[in-house]
Amino acid sequence: MGLEVEVVGETNKFDVIVIGGGIAGMTASSIVTQSGLKSCFLERDVPGGKLMHIDAIHDFSSPGVSGKDLGLSVFKQATEEVKTNYVYGDVQSIRPKNGMFYLFTADGQTWEAKAIIIATGTGIKKLDVDGEEKYFNHGLSYCALCDGALAKGKTVALIGNTTHLDFLKQNATKVDVYQPTDIKAFDGDGNKLTGIIKKDGSKVACDFAFVENGFIPNIDFLPTDVEVDDQKQVIVDGTMKSPYFEGVFACGDCTNQTPKMIRPAMEQAAIAADSAIKYVKSKNW
Ligand SMILES: Cc1cc2nc3c(=O)[nH]c(=O)nc-3n(C[C@H](O)[C@H](O)[C@H](O)COP(=O)(O)OP(=O)(O)OC[C@H]3O[C@@H](n4cnc5c(N)ncnc54)[C@H](O)[C@@H]3O)c2cc1C
Repeated sequence: MGLEVEVVGETNKFDVIVIGGGIAGMTASSIVTQSGLKSCFLERDVPGGKLMHIDAIHDFSSPGVSGKDLGLSVFKQATEEVKTNYVYGDVQSIRPKNGMFYLFTADGQTWEAKAIIIATGTGIKKLDVDGEEKYFNHGLSYCALCDGALAKGKTVALIGNTTHLDFLKQNATKVDVYQPTDIKAFDGDGNKLTGIIKKDGSKVACDFAFVENGFIPNIDFLPTDVEVDDQKQVIVDGTMKSPYFEGVFACGDCTNQTPKMIRPAMEQAAIAADSAIKYVKSKNW
């Protein structure tokens, strides 16, 4: 990747670049744009992030609203009303230089910003065992709530968190629970999962396996000297500033802040945006 390329066209230059287009990223980018600064959010997938996988949200302003509806409505407001810039882009690395930040996306483009806001959320914590990739979506799922209904009348292995055990029991004929550390591999016929292989070598047949092993922050693209805690969450202070470099802020699920929910993510995004705006406006560029 061309890390040395620093000739950045005007269209790729921003005051603030937000990495991630979940609820935190879209909120932060909108607030920066509303302040008069030039801002964008770079998103590698569908804008909305985790919201796009939530059937019904019961603890937000509109009870029972679907995550998809909320995500689309925030996206429309951000891009059509506030007119913040949405850019499809998978950020692969970042390099700070002379007070500026250079971001490199998978399509080979370079982006320049005076400040950045990291809002990359979290991804699924996989088990990293044989057969996991092969049987994903072929009997193996990472979301008991989303796919539990598919297990109607079937036998199920639930690996990890038991929050949705009762829901699975309503559908499946049998649910066995395992610790993630019990699992050596997923077994199958080449097309479909047929069971699990435990660390002691024993095989247990099942029709479906649900891995509920929590989440891990999406921070692989960050320089290794960005401060993270033991769960790889980006460390921020009360102003959502990272101690890494002046001009680096973070918000939402990828940070060491709790709880990991929609409203706190939006509040943190507002604070991160406010801090980034103050930072950029305080300097003579
Ligand atoms: C099943 C489920 C149900 C939930 N229900 C509720 C609920 O009812 N109420 C509630 O308040 N909360 C709920 N939550 C939690 C809530 O969804 C999250 O706290 C919130 O959506 C986090 O938003 P975020 O923007 O920080 O992160 P995310 O939504 O994870 O968004 C991060 C975005 O960054 C993008 N990204 C990552 N890396 C890169 C990169 N290198 N380059 C470009 N883009 C990148 C990702 O593609 C993603 O779109 C639920 C979560 C789950 C999983």
